[in-house]
Amino acid sequence: MTATPERLNEKPLHELLALLQRGEISIESLIEDLFRAIEAREPEIHAYLELADPDELVRQAQDQREKPLRGLPVAVKDLISTVGFRTTCGSRFLEDFRPIYDATAVEKLKGAGATVLGKTNLDEFGMGSSNENSAFGPTRNPLDLERVPGGSSGGSAAAVAAHLAPAALGTDTGGSIRLPAAFCGVVGLKPTYGLVSRYGLVAYASSLDQIGPITKDVRDAALLLSVLAGHDPRDSTSINGDSADYTAELEGGIEGFRVGVVREFFDALEGEARRVAEGWVRAFEGLGAAVEEVSLPHAEYAIPTYYLIASSEASANLARYDGVRYTRRFHDESLEEMFSQSREEGFGPEVKRRIMLGTYALSAGYYEQWYGKAQRVRTLICQDFRRAFERADVLITPTAPTPAFKLGEKLDDPLQMYLCDAFLVPISLAGLCAISVPGGTVEGLPFGLQIVGDKLQEAKILRAAYAFEQSRAR
Ligand code: GLN
Repeated sequence: MTATPERLNEKPLHELLALLQRGEISIESLIEDLFRAIEAREPEIHAYLELADPDELVRQAQDQREKPLRGLPVAVKDLISTVGFRTTCGSRFLEDFRPIYDATAVEKLKGAGATVLGKTNLDEFGMGSSNENSAFGPTRNPLDLERVPGGSSGGSAAAVAAHLAPAALGTDTGGSIRLPAAFCGVVGLKPTYGLVSRYGLVAYASSLDQIGPITKDVRDAALLLSVLAGHDPRDSTSINGDSADYTAELEGGIEGFRVGVVREFFDALEGEARRVAEGWVRAFEGLGAAVEEVSLPHAEYAIPTYYLIASSEASANLARYDGVRYTRRFHDESLEEMFSQSREEGFGPEVKRRIMLGTYALSAGYYEQWYGKAQRVRTLICQDFRRAFERADVLITPTAPTPAFKLGEKLDDPLQMYLCDAFLVPISLAGLCAISVPGGTVEGLPFGLQIVGDKLQEAKILRAAYAFEQSRAR
């Protein structure tokens, strides 16, 4: 009896690349396995809003054989502009929007020889933690269809977890790469603010938004980050500097690394989650790291601070959707009707809530009290991290307080939904890098470990994440 060979769609990018290089597999057979899986599971998961034609993917791959990514298909969150697909942002407003250019991140992927497999589902404009705010229906968690995949890059994480994509791009404003990665049991990396170009990423909150990879393992995250990172003159917040090969130091180990355990976040855990997190401390000690406690005293204010700043920026960024430009116009009896009715019908309830909150926080008379104060607290949070990184090379925290929750559970209670982001948004406010890796199970569901690095310390968090991942595989 021969063992059934592992299907190609279940393999990480780096293994597929090695197999392609040795001529042991073809892109055709990978695409075939992928679309067989998509046919079987996509109807129940709904990870995608649009898919490429499989024959077209094979054809495109023919020209990419000599390039580093050799024609491998990657899924792209539908908040990132792509030629040849709609870019809906999960919104009725942009239902028919077809960008005429690729985002820099997509351009770079294609330049390295990747193809776009499809566009993945998301919370409208990236606003949400569960993927239930998509105008086109929620994505479901492939590990338990009654549960959410996390948001807002839930389609990307679900596609990778269910082997409907070898890897995907997500975006992270306040955790939207890391939370779905944690809930679906895959790897998600949020780069330092400015490391990856935002050109062509539809704006939610411009001082926070970043594109990053969602992958099956840590090596793939390093591989894709090496392609995505680098200066872009078309994004004025893009950091100057050359791109790096983030796979180079992956295997260096973390002997002597100083690992800071964020006390406030560990203390917030209960029961089984707490036991799992205690296991992480032992794992890092076993890898030769020096583990000590660190404190982020202002992190408890991160949720209100983030939701004020993100909503304020969103209210400005979303002013451009008015029924005049960018596709949908819902009424045109009068100018006022057109503006107000288009916004009334074009935006979903969560987006409207954010616009109202942001407009209020920015309004004359309240500006200092809300937006100004939030900016000052943001500075205090940055200072907390600066102090922590004087004592530690990387910080570890849970990605979220709980594993994936049930669909509908938090939908009527926005505050409960926002609380999922407690361990994620402080990092976003400070512009740092962080990676979520599978850290064990709680209630039989994946539970994420978040490894946080100082600005531009991606190589360090990847090295720590890789060492942790390897220790788990043994
Ligand atoms: N839950 C956060 C929000 O709704 C995450 C957003 C994101 O990272 N795009 O704002």
